[in-house]
Amino acid sequence: MKVLAATNNAHKIREMEQILSQTGIELVTPKSIGLSLEVVEDGNTFEENARKKAQEFSQASGMVALADDSGLTVNCLGGAPGVYSARYGGEGVLDDAGRVQLLLKNMRGKEDRSAAFVCAIALVFTDGTSIEVKAECRGKIAEQPAGEGGFGYDPVFVPQGFDRTFSQLTAEEKNAISHRGKALEKLRDCIGGRL
Ligand code: IMP
Repeated sequence: MKVLAATNNAHKIREMEQILSQTGIELVTPKSIGLSLEVVEDGNTFEENARKKAQEFSQASGMVALADDSGLTVNCLGGAPGVYSARYGGEGVLDDAGRVQLLLKNMRGKEDRSAAFVCAIALVFTDGTSIEVKAECRGKIAEQPAGEGGFGYDPVFVPQGFDRTFSQLTAEEKNAISHRGKALEKLRDCIGGRL
C-alpha cells in the first residue's frame, strides 16, 4: 500500500522507510509526486502538529498520509525545546549544529541532564479518519557532541541503557529504541486490516 510521507525532512523519511520496511507500507515522498507543500506547524502539542500535517498532505494529494511530529524535551529547561525543536534559536536562524550548541549553552551548569525524545505519528485516510500514536525515548544530554550519524540533536542524546549518543549508534540500534521506532511499532499494531 502506497502512503505519502507528510514531511519534506529527508532524515525522517529515511528512518521511517527503514522502520516500515517489510510492513507492506511503501512510503512515497512529496517530491516524487511533484507535491510542494509547507504546513505551518502552529499547534501547541506534537499530536496537533502531526494531525495537521497528515490532514493537509492527504487533502492535497488524495492519498493516505503519514506525519511525524517530534522533538526533544529537556527537563531542566522546562520541556524546551519541545515542539520548537526544529526552530530552536529562531525560525531558519540556526542549523542542526547551531541548535545543539545553543542547547549545551542553555544547559551549562545544570545538574539534571535528563531528557526525552517524543514522537507523535498521525496516519490520515482518504475519508478523513485517522490513527494517532505517540511514544518517547528517555535519556540524557551529553556534555559534548559525539558521533557522525543521524541528524538534529542526535550527537548529544544518550539513550537510557547506553553510553553512546544516538549519533554513535547504528541506524538499526537507533530505530530499535527510538521515539520514532516505538511510535511506528504502535502504529503497525493499530492499523490492523485498514491498509
Ligand atoms: P518537526 O517534527 O518537523 O517539528 O521537527 C522535529 C525536530 O526535532 C527535528 O528538526 C530535530 O531537530 C528534532 N528531532 C526529532 N527527531 C529527532 C531524532 O530522531 N534525532 C534528532 N533530532 C530529532
